[in-house]
Amino acid sequence: MSLLVVGSVAFDAVETPHGKVDRMLGGAATYFSVAASFFTHVNLVGIVGADFTEDDASVFRGRRIDTVGLERADGKTFFWAGRYSENMNERTTLATDLNVFADFNPTLPPSYKASSHIFLANIHPALQSSVLHQVERRPKVVALDTMNYWIEGTPKELRETLKHTDILMINDSECRLLSSEHNLMLAARHIFKLGPKALVIKRGEHGAMLVHQNRTFSVPAYPLEQVHDPTGAGDTFAGGFMGYLASVKSASDAELRRAMVYGSVMGSFAVEKFGLDRLRTLKRPEIKSRARHFHKMTQFTL
Ligand code: AMP
Repeated sequence: MSLLVVGSVAFDAVETPHGKVDRMLGGAATYFSVAASFFTHVNLVGIVGADFTEDDASVFRGRRIDTVGLERADGKTFFWAGRYSENMNERTTLATDLNVFADFNPTLPPSYKASSHIFLANIHPALQSSVLHQVERRPKVVALDTMNYWIEGTPKELRETLKHTDILMINDSECRLLSSEHNLMLAARHIFKLGPKALVIKRGEHGAMLVHQNRTFSVPAYPLEQVHDPTGAGDTFAGGFMGYLASVKSASDAELRRAMVYGSVMGSFAVEKFGLDRLRTLKRPEIKSRARHFHKMTQFTL
């Protein structure tokens, strides 16, 4: 089994109450693939500009990440800038410079076309669809992330892509916006009519919730004393979730629940330091140990 991701590889400028970085490696597909590669082999599809150096690409080396599908184009790499509020629950986007992303037309290398699991990170829904059209047979699991920009700006294209999506992974405000329902259970009911069979709602410091087949499962966020930079937490969560799912045989309720825990475990590491700094030094035993902590943290007797 192998996991394909399409999404942004970026340079980010980030300001949080703990510091400010003017330019660091980021992007949804970067966070996702680094996190997922702890669990499975990842096929990366994206685009970078001429300013993306060998040193920048080193984050993918020595991991199970295939970068044949990472296109290089003349021009600048996608750039995003954001600032977090004092409590880090709100984020203001200060800049989104699409650069080489503006004319991106993803082409799957032949070796990627049999991927069993696909994650369509937050990009134009037409590009997400184009990737789905290029795979050879129906993947086992297609998961999708999106944001208010596409929900409001390209609703028709998004609806078309959602028809072919198994798991929608969005945050609570996106869930409300997409469904026009404030209540998240009613929102889930609405979203299931659009195509997805499962919904993962990411709720930042409040953890994440899975809704599928009339069942719900909630996982808390790991209780950290220091959160330095929430950037990429959602994509890292998705990387842990999909990476784990691609490493096991089925997408049963039990496996989906474990995937939720591994998503939360990976997200909790991402926020400990700026950008990808914590994920870069992360070791597998640390993931196991934190997963065991989640197990203890959520056990009770009746
Ligand atoms: P997250 O914190 O999980 O929402 O992801 C943040 C990452 O997404 C950053 O590293 C950005 O480079 C990237 N990003 C932000 N806005 C966009 C966008 N409109 N399209 C694609 N990627 C984006």
